Amino acid sequence: MSDVLRKMLSERPWLLADGATGTSFFATGLPTGHAPELWNLDEPDKVRDQYRAFVDAGCDIILTNSFGGTRNRLKLHQAEGRVAEINTAAARLAREVAGQAGREIVVAGSMGPTGEMYMPLGELTMTQGTAAYAEQAKALAEAGVDVLWIETIYSFEELTAAVTGARATGLPVVCTMSFDTAGRTMMGITAAQFVEETHKLTPSPLAVGGNCGIGPSELLTTLIGLREAAGADAVLVAKSNCGVPEFVDGEIAYQGTPELMADYARLCLDVGVQIIGGCCGTTPAHIRVMRAAMEAHTPVSPPNLETIIERLGQVSRGAEKQFRQLDEGG
Ligand SMILES: [Zn+2]
Repeated sequence: MSDVLRKMLSERPWLLADGATGTSFFATGLPTGHAPELWNLDEPDKVRDQYRAFVDAGCDIILTNSFGGTRNRLKLHQAEGRVAEINTAAARLAREVAGQAGREIVVAGSMGPTGEMYMPLGELTMTQGTAAYAEQAKALAEAGVDVLWIETIYSFEELTAAVTGARATGLPVVCTMSFDTAGRTMMGITAAQFVEETHKLTPSPLAVGGNCGIGPSELLTTLIGLREAAGADAVLVAKSNCGVPEFVDGEIAYQGTPELMADYARLCLDVGVQIIGGCCGTTPAHIRVMRAAMEAHTPVSPPNLETIIERLGQVSRGAEKQFRQLDEGG
């Protein structure tokens, strides 16, 4: 069983995770509506190139191209029968690139949402959800990932199904939720509620955090809430989108500059976040500048809300309210 992530966390003050997988593939020619995961089989060179670009930019952790690799998501592309094949390829290609890096790289097996609602709101049972994640986790583990990286989760049912599904592999798990709705996930979960729920999970996550969402300023307020709820010793993960998503010509675009992402990374260090990366829109060029900024930065005390807004931009009213409550409570 791989313990490389735990080991690196104990040896280093922080680790740099990668940037966007999906949006990066769309930028290199993946047609809209296509599943990026199918490229593990159809365009392995492009997948390898992307992994390598993030390693070359200075990442310590790369996520496999398997975000939508549950049978529920692959069904949308008539590929629900190819879960093992697709996830195995995603992990093997990443392992191959990591092996050529000349330094230690954590290969994290990405597992995103099934995209379905659980009963009683939807049709999916916990047994089905857990089985779907178990199928994906098994393939990723057998192909050599170091950790299972459960991300962009918005409901407790999905979180529990994913962690329970990962259990049989014996690998450590990292869990991040997407707090994209006024300081909460789409299903209304706050950072504090997320931390409380993780105490019920087996295995207990090695690290928890936030990813995707609506931009670096909002994510940073979430991370401060997570730090408060999880305590000083918890390993936290921040993977923010590259700026606030905007509609440009009918499509979502991310226009955060490398400098903005570098400043976000510095502020994450000030909050004591140990694993920092980007989500949608974050390219290797952003990651490279983030790495340089992190290496040059000596952490200072965590920012207040005014500093976050001044340096990274506005936050939602909901996030602001939660932040003020924290400030009064602490
Ligand atoms: Zn994202």
